[in-house]
Amino acid sequence: MFRKIKGQQQVIDLLTSAIHNERISQAYLFHGSDGVGKFITALYFGMALNCLSSNEYRPCGVCASCHKFLSFEHPDFIYLFPTINLKLIRRGEIKDKELSPSIRHISKTR
Ligand SMILES: [Zn+2]
Repeated sequence: MFRKIKGQQQVIDLLTSAIHNERISQAYLFHGSDGVGKFITALYFGMALNCLSSNEYRPCGVCASCHKFLSFEHPDFIYLFPTINLKLIRRGEIKDKELSPSIRHISKTR
């Protein structure tokens, strides 16, 4: 699946080399402009590390572990994303009343 990522061959080579040599760092930071493939590269890297396939081309994308990654249900995959900084009042309600409708909309779409 790493082969599907275009324009990041140096990064892909580095990550696949780490996997093949079993020299995985404690943390990786995927940084760069929007749209260069940071998220999908990080996702595939996590999938590859947990892939159950014995195939040399990991992640396979079809094993149970890969399926859980792709559906964001893998227990070892925690997806953190930025959110707006909410100002809450003591009872846990949103202080800015204008934010409340947009937050409600976001929570309904999930
Ligand atoms: Zn797999």
